[in-house]
Amino acid sequence: MAESTPEAFQVYMLVVAHPDDSEFSSAGTVAGLCRDGKRVIIIQVTSGDRGTSDRSVRPDKLAATREAEQLEAARRLGVAEVVFLHCKDGGLVPDLDLREKVVRMIRIHRPDVVITHDPFRPYAFHPDHRAVGFATHDAVYPTARDHLYFPEHLEEGLEPHKTAEIWYFGAETADKFVDITDTFDAKIDALMAHVSQVGSAESLRERMRERAAELATGQDFELAEAFKVVQMRR
Ligand SMILES: [Zn+2]
Repeated sequence: MAESTPEAFQVYMLVVAHPDDSEFSSAGTVAGLCRDGKRVIIIQVTSGDRGTSDRSVRPDKLAATREAEQLEAARRLGVAEVVFLHCKDGGLVPDLDLREKVVRMIRIHRPDVVITHDPFRPYAFHPDHRAVGFATHDAVYPTARDHLYFPEHLEEGLEPHKTAEIWYFGAETADKFVDITDTFDAKIDALMAHVSQVGSAESLRERMRERAAELATGQDFELAEAFKVVQMRR
């Protein structure tokens, strides 16, 4: 299916569980959006404080390292803002507490498009990814758009907001294939900012190119990132 981003969309908000999730899934797309003058915001739900096999690293130190890496990756892509929610890595559940946090972000940043983990993908899935996907889906509709949900937000000056579309990455049934042939190098550059998580540039580049080429199968371009789009404004 052809690229179909309405020109009118200006604000894109990613909601992701761990530092590097946004880059592995969407950095080529994000680089393209930033290049086109769109405002991109990344909401980082945890700071990835359990993401190591090194037993000498303390979780708080690791979180600080990974936040710095995420900020650098975002800077390289041209992302306008990164927000850290500081939830516990590995401890996310799609409850009202997490949903309120995402609703708050939606009401503050007022995105046209929200990009997040596909929580409906079956099997082999990190529980944090599933939790963020479900909480974000439920935050977009109906919670953020109706004023009687978390009415205390109104007292803080946060108005309800209707998001036009959700784009799920990691979907089994993707229907949006974004051409990242021109932004693939920017994707690798951003991923390389996650020094504590990625290995050599060569093996990463090879692995990511293989995946992007696979996702572009049947398209008239070489490299893709893929999403399942759900339209919310009807
Ligand atoms: Zn993750």
